[in-house]
Amino acid sequence: MTKHIFVTGGVVSSLGKGLTAAAVGMLLEQRGLRVSLQKLDPYINVDPGTMSPFQHGEVYVTDDGAETDLDLGHYERFTHARLTKDSNFTTGKIYQAVISKERRGDYLGRTVQVIPHITDAIKEAIDAGVGDLDGDEVDVAITEIGGTVGDIESLPFLEAIRQYALERAPEDVMFVHITLLPYLRASGELKTKPTQQSVGKLREIGIQPHVLVCRTEVPMEEEMFKKISLFCNVRRQAVIEERDVEKTIYQVPVMLRDAGLDHIILDHLHLPAKGETDLSRWEAMIEDVISAKRHAEIAVVGKYIELHDAYKSIYESLAHAGIANHAKVKIRKISAEDLDENPVEALAGVDGLLVPGGFGERGLEGKIRAIRWARENDVPFFGICLGLQTAVIEFARNVAGLDDAHTLEHTPHTPHPVIHLMESQEDVSDKGGTMRLGAYECELEEGTLAHKLYGASTVLERHRHRYEFNNDYLERLQAAGLVASGFHRGLDLVEIVEVPTHPFFVGVQFHPEFKSSPLHPHPIFRGFVAAALARAEAGRTSSNGEPRASHTTA
Ligand code: GLN
Repeated sequence: MTKHIFVTGGVVSSLGKGLTAAAVGMLLEQRGLRVSLQKLDPYINVDPGTMSPFQHGEVYVTDDGAETDLDLGHYERFTHARLTKDSNFTTGKIYQAVISKERRGDYLGRTVQVIPHITDAIKEAIDAGVGDLDGDEVDVAITEIGGTVGDIESLPFLEAIRQYALERAPEDVMFVHITLLPYLRASGELKTKPTQQSVGKLREIGIQPHVLVCRTEVPMEEEMFKKISLFCNVRRQAVIEERDVEKTIYQVPVMLRDAGLDHIILDHLHLPAKGETDLSRWEAMIEDVISAKRHAEIAVVGKYIELHDAYKSIYESLAHAGIANHAKVKIRKISAEDLDENPVEALAGVDGLLVPGGFGERGLEGKIRAIRWARENDVPFFGICLGLQTAVIEFARNVAGLDDAHTLEHTPHTPHPVIHLMESQEDVSDKGGTMRLGAYECELEEGTLAHKLYGASTVLERHRHRYEFNNDYLERLQAAGLVASGFHRGLDLVEIVEVPTHPFFVGVQFHPEFKSSPLHPHPIFRGFVAAALARAEAGRTSSNGEPRASHTTA
């Protein structure tokens, strides 16, 4: 039978609950247990797919095409948990299910209420999330409750997990609460009051946390542990310090293991402890991160650059590729709008250019200018989703001589719609959950860079977009030197393009950043960073920003 760990957060948001939940999952997997991870989000959007990245950060996409919270990215990078549509529920999704049942008449005339109908639907959602890759129930299901304890909108979720525990044996359910100990610099003190109050809130609604994970910027003294234990009614050993990590977030599982969190969980849940938690591969990886001597600087040119979380998986994937190349990857974040005039100054000295996915017109021409600069100056370029689309537009305009080439997303009357809408998308009017979403097979052309990097002839990659490469232009663009190196045969779609005369110029229609992890860096990211390092180490001889005549064709 599956055991359950519920992770809540108190005092402030952005405490790294997702990261901590993922780290717990990793520790348990290291003990030979199968885990699932799930996030329950109290907002009313049915999923984050319709929200601006400025509101919510990146939208993480699962293989089965769910548009989900970015914490699921941590879950996949840290564990082998199978993530699906059932791995992320919001208040909106729960209410939608309950309201459809009510409309069907399934409640047989009863008044439909938050308790028990909404809370029952939340408990069903928790049960739906406990499958592993083979559909078997896992040993431990970890469920993270979004938001902060004390928020009005979190209440039904907290009530549901209280009931969930009530209906099971005490050793089958565990509550882990993550909290902040603010440090008052003036008096040099860590304060416990907000933690006491947030635990108080939980106890008021019938939840007594079994573990408190305390986020702190300075080390906790023994007295502090004892005080929190006494005031919050949590055993001393179960008060865990989670200090701000100095070098990399990948230190979090090691820190929690060193604090004995895995033992406390196994004890409480009466799970057989298999050996000790062996993190040696992981620790060797961290050592690599810390001791890396090589370095390259990559420009990421995007529309939501001010918010780190908007491109979370991209930055993570660049870091993984750095690890694979024993190098540090420095990121220069550039707002695409700032390049609308002249990209040269902002980009000078970078060793590679990455243009991530995006929506809307703002900054589009800046991205196109940056890509032209990279192409003409032999600077490694990697375009993802909208990044591929803008690279195709740039190539069409400046190499194939198709003036005013554009995407139908922005310019419905362009004479050259090199990026257009698939027929099946033409009549779609709802915005939520209607893009090409989830994993599609991509067949790689032999002899291309993509084929070489993957070392495979077919791969599965995840998509989230409405627009596509327009095959009517394939021949003309190929004649001008663009190579289509990956295809989805079923729908006859170009998924990867590259320029073979360039040291590294690759655009992909999918989102490879969702399939990279520290121990398994994505092959295209790895190849891109390797190319950037080669350029950096060759002394950046021709990177003064002046286009090289031989490559300037328009
Ligand atoms: N806006 C583009 C489309 O819908 C690209 C989407 C993306 O980059 N994820 O096709």
